[in-house]
Amino acid sequence: MVQVRKKTRVEKILLADDLYILWRDGHESRYDFFALRDACPCASCIDEITGQKTLDPSSIAKDIHALSCEYVGNYAIRIRWSDGHDTGLYNFKLLRERG
Ligand SMILES: [Zn+2]
Repeated sequence: MVQVRKKTRVEKILLADDLYILWRDGHESRYDFFALRDACPCASCIDEITGQKTLDPSSIAKDIHALSCEYVGNYAIRIRWSDGHDTGLYNFKLLRERG
């Protein structure tokens, strides 16, 4: 597979009490961990066929937090959550729209 290396839109990601993203254009976004976990787009949280959310928000710990996050290509990040969930890829387009 040939990948076109484009510069990612993200300058910096910071994990603290929330997730912060500093975008290359200078914009800053802050994401609440719980809301972000709740918005996980992976196949076990969203039904791939219907697009319906299958994740029950009440099953998410109130103190959910991100243990780590890593870049996936240059279009998304993968977050490893304190509940062990790490299959969701949060693409920058979605993040930018939410932030
Ligand atoms: Zn998920």
